[in-house]
Amino acid sequence: MEKLNLENYKGIIFDMDGVIYDISEAIKKAVDDSVEKYDMNVNTDEVMEEIAHLIEEIQNYPVPKILLNSYDLLKVEFLEGISFFKKLRIAIFMFNQFNKYKEAESTIFEGIDDLISKLAKKVKLAILTNNKSQYAEEVLEKYKLSKFFDTIVGFNDVTEVKPDPEGILKILDKWKLKPSDVIFIGDMTTDVDAGKAAKVKMVSVASGLAKKQTLLEHNPDILVDNTENLIKLFNF
Ligand SMILES: [Mg+2]
Repeated sequence: MEKLNLENYKGIIFDMDGVIYDISEAIKKAVDDSVEKYDMNVNTDEVMEEIAHLIEEIQNYPVPKILLNSYDLLKVEFLEGISFFKKLRIAIFMFNQFNKYKEAESTIFEGIDDLISKLAKKVKLAILTNNKSQYAEEVLEKYKLSKFFDTIVGFNDVTEVKPDPEGILKILDKWKLKPSDVIFIGDMTTDVDAGKAAKVKMVSVASGLAKKQTLLEHNPDILVDNTENLIKLFNF
């Protein structure tokens, strides 16, 4: 397996959900509740990726923008053949259930805290999330990880969220580093596209929400199957 030599890098940018924080249980439960309530015929495992994308989009939009864009937002496969208003009801219900479960059902990936503390001794660390920066701060605080990150960029800090490279470029600018000095670690195809556009070293973690095959189609520089293999990627 390829190893990343930390001597060659000066900074690492982490995505939050799906890389540090595992929200897959909350999504699964929200989907299960929706399937039951609306009597939908879907396979939860099959629709996780699409729903994770949908949730990520909805949570960084203000409500008026969600309503304006709802027709396009809801053009998702798992809701195909359902009338628009029913789609909207299902999506809102699912999002509410997700928020209800999110805190109690989510936790950090095993070993990621140890990895972060080791990496922080060698390179600068930042968070780039399509969620609110305050949310990332709260999660980091809860797990005593705040002190390792000098920069947190959320949707409220940029004009364009991932897959746009703006957030990564903003961090590079703040750090005064070149793209080749920096690694970006993300779990979704939007992360891969942002990382490739910013020309940083792009590491994908197929930690559960996006399918490995879909991620590979977006050509990350390195793909690991899970947190365990992400940890093994670095030599200290
Ligand atoms: Mg993510």
